[in-house]
Amino acid sequence: MALKFPSNMDECAYFTRRTMGQGNAVTWVFKETCPKCKKGTMGKPRDPKTGKPKIRAKEYECPECGNVVEKEAYEDTLTANIQYNCPKCKNSGETQVPFARKKVQLFDEEKQKKVSADAVVFFCSKCKERLVITKKMK
Ligand SMILES: [Zn+2]
Ligand SMILES: [Zn+2]
Repeated sequence: MALKFPSNMDECAYFTRRTMGQGNAVTWVFKETCPKCKKGTMGKPRDPKTGKPKIRAKEYECPECGNVVEKEAYEDTLTANIQYNCPKCKNSGETQVPFARKKVQLFDEEKQKKVSADAVVFFCSKCKERLVITKKMK
């Protein structure tokens, strides 16, 4: 499988680089076309004054037909592309998983306790280790 890399960040609804112990992962999600008109690419609504996308908007909008979809609902329909180096077996691999985030229990090093986080979960193709990309914590 050869994943397509984004040629610029405008193509992405999400992009992150993470280290996972001794490994790392790059995750990106392409914006997809509007499910209603199949013409426009869904994106953050633009500010009518500046023409710049409103990064913090809670919804996505189709520039062609004006279809508005709530951010989380839209993102759950997308596909995450992941290129990783497994922290356990050092295997380098690529995978695609649904971008629907799951609640996972993780051990937080800073807080020294288990916390619940939204994350994309996938498995190493070689050693089947469960790997987790958490949504950025603020
Ligand atoms: Zn549309
Ligand atoms: Zn592995």
